[in-house]
Amino acid sequence: MMLMDLSIPELSKLLVARKISSVDLVKESYKRITAWDGQLNSFISLKDKKIAIREANILDKNRTKNSGALYGLVFSMKDAYLALGTKTTCASNMLKNFKSPYSSTVYQKLKSAGAILIGKNNLDSWGHGGSTENSDFGVSKNPWDQKRVAGGSSGGSAIAVASRMVNFAIGEDTGGSIRNPSSMCNISGLKVSYGRVSRWGTIAYASSLDTVGPMAKSSEDLAYVLQEMAGADKKDASSAQKKLDDYISNLKKRIKGKKIGLAKEFFSKNIDPEIEKIVRKVAERLTRLGAEIVNVSIPHLNYGISIYYLIALSETSSNMARYDGVRYGNKRESLSPETIKRIILGTYALSAGYADKLYKKAQKARTVLIDEYRRVFKKCDVLLAPVTPSKPAKIGELINDPVKNFLEDLYTVTVNVAGLPSLAIPAGFTKDNLPIGVQLIGERFHEAELLNIGYKYQQNFRDYKKIPTTIKN
Ligand code: GLN
Repeated sequence: MMLMDLSIPELSKLLVARKISSVDLVKESYKRITAWDGQLNSFISLKDKKIAIREANILDKNRTKNSGALYGLVFSMKDAYLALGTKTTCASNMLKNFKSPYSSTVYQKLKSAGAILIGKNNLDSWGHGGSTENSDFGVSKNPWDQKRVAGGSSGGSAIAVASRMVNFAIGEDTGGSIRNPSSMCNISGLKVSYGRVSRWGTIAYASSLDTVGPMAKSSEDLAYVLQEMAGADKKDASSAQKKLDDYISNLKKRIKGKKIGLAKEFFSKNIDPEIEKIVRKVAERLTRLGAEIVNVSIPHLNYGISIYYLIALSETSSNMARYDGVRYGNKRESLSPETIKRIILGTYALSAGYADKLYKKAQKARTVLIDEYRRVFKKCDVLLAPVTPSKPAKIGELINDPVKNFLEDLYTVTVNVAGLPSLAIPAGFTKDNLPIGVQLIGERFHEAELLNIGYKYQQNFRDYKKIPTTIKN
């Protein structure tokens, strides 16, 4: 039996009953990383195995009947989050020697829950991209077809979960970066509401859009991780005071009568017909579970790319100003062409004479989108949508086509623009056996509702159980 294939509650039961140990988990994790990571390139840095085993040993000794569900489990984080003593590169040469001087709140919380961080995952540097090709540490490969990208920007984290190297991973989503690679690697990923999870100690891409969220095999596992990592944080003024729901007990609620909205704008003409078919199949499956389908419209969804990129690039040009060549590496030499392009575009959008026409206009359009989503949620409980218009691209295809690269984000970015939560879950496969996910989008702070629907769906339809045959053992 492969332990890494078991769910978080299953593992937790076995650990508490002392049928397995944390040391077993750590060993299996390193075994799988050693076997596959040379090909897949999921990790930028890895903890020394001896240190991880020592940590697991201590946890095994101190385990009690009341130890929480994450106690003794193994996880990895996108390399944009600080953990004291580890390198945090953000996949950029600029920070290739940067050592975290303190720990992010998310890491501290997971560590106090007893989870073992074993490494940091590859990404598009600074979160700039959707394919992990814009990394100074090499492209990550899709475990389902290594000629293709794993999605991004949290590509390395998705691979680590998909190939069962860790029990769960932590990613970041500014415009799709958790959902896009989750969909492309056949795992589940949750983009949380803006403010739900603290961003203290995480490297900023675009501060009004960035969110930190869990990536795991199933909605059930996501609920267990979210329960530990979410909540208000005095150190992050943008974190919300709103009380946490009980994500775990909410999983099992009945979903009969739930209204699932299908917005016609999510099925624009550039969607791959195979993907559209899979999304509609999921809608039909949800009706079999008692849900009702409602047709709705988000008229300005198609402006999403312009709105998002104007805001994201303006904010990144401002956030990147701190890397001024004094404390860190030299800008010209150590930033990728993609990042330099984004800084220039953002600076232009904010510059005197253009800010009104570009940045400020995008902010007004943002309000329009927020209102349209608000109106839609009067007619339905959640929206069902594709994650990307295309299946995972061949390596090189997107990086050489910047417009297509941006258009790939059409279905994910407006969720960030509106600050909403969205759950991506595996939904099926294309004819060439590439995984396709769908997203369930909810009202702000309705994570529990999304995880509940995701859980019920996954209890009945088990695409999420499939792993690539090439890396089965
Ligand atoms: N692909 C999008 C971008 O490049 C989203 C990235 C993200 O969510 N970090 O901006």
